[in-house]
Amino acid sequence: MSRQTTSPPPVVLSIAGSDPSGGAGIQADIKTFTVIGIYSGAVITSLTCQNTTGVSSTLSLPASFVKQQVEDVLADLYVTHIKIGMIGDESIAESLGPILAGFQGEIVYDPVLRSSSGTPLYSADNMELITNQLIGNSTVLTPNSEELKILTGQDYSTTDAALIGAQKLLSSHKSLRAICLKGGHIETDKETVTDFFLEKKGPDGKGKISIHQAIHPRIQTKNTHGTGCTFASAFTAFHLLTGNRKTAFDKTVHFMDLLISKSRSHSIGRGKGPLLHHAWLES
Ligand code: PLP
Repeated sequence: MSRQTTSPPPVVLSIAGSDPSGGAGIQADIKTFTVIGIYSGAVITSLTCQNTTGVSSTLSLPASFVKQQVEDVLADLYVTHIKIGMIGDESIAESLGPILAGFQGEIVYDPVLRSSSGTPLYSADNMELITNQLIGNSTVLTPNSEELKILTGQDYSTTDAALIGAQKLLSSHKSLRAICLKGGHIETDKETVTDFFLEKKGPDGKGKISIHQAIHPRIQTKNTHGTGCTFASAFTAFHLLTGNRKTAFDKTVHFMDLLISKSRSHSIGRGKGPLLHHAWLES
């Protein structure tokens, strides 16, 4: 009798912080991958104490322990995509850099630096290690305008200014192929939100930068906890499924619109409520 061999399915590895209230961080990542239908591993960088009203404290794990978690998973599972969220501190950023540099697949980095209530989720005096070890080894970055502002040291009050900042950032990193610039925090008085997808053209990424936009209605809701984590995870999952970054962006915008809209009216927690990821399965 011949033995059947099956090739392993490609999977995602999420590297992020834990949110015990379940709305953001690695909990949001795993829910997103699961409802889209992708298996994921989950390496925790930091624990947080928080609920929907805010973050009360954070505790980073030792960098060597975070590194060991990543190495053990990569040594065994067929990981084609890494998604990175909260990193915690400089020693963790430093320990991850060489692993990311040697990884052959897609690395989607959501530069989580502060919670929406203002608590730092990355403690360092400057952005040097984030820039060199994380952005410098990623293929896709998914900042909102506030994160872009911290990363570039520039203030952006208009969409045009933020776009110029994002283009500069994209051009200055060789491995970076695309930026998803989330527009929810820009021109908040408008009735629409515009998200942008900037991508370097050409097979080697040496061509011009193309800019694609998705304009959608601004949904009035307080339930936005974990939208950044969910966006980056959905992009990663859709890229794994389609192999195309622009298609992944369009599918992610649709996924987010549906989840935000279906999560508008619940009252889980007293503060900024979470998204109901399972609404995707019911849609
Ligand atoms: N990751 C963790 C562990 C967090 O606690 C938070 C926010 O508090 C985030 C990520 C960012 O959340 P969001 O997706 O709302 O930007």
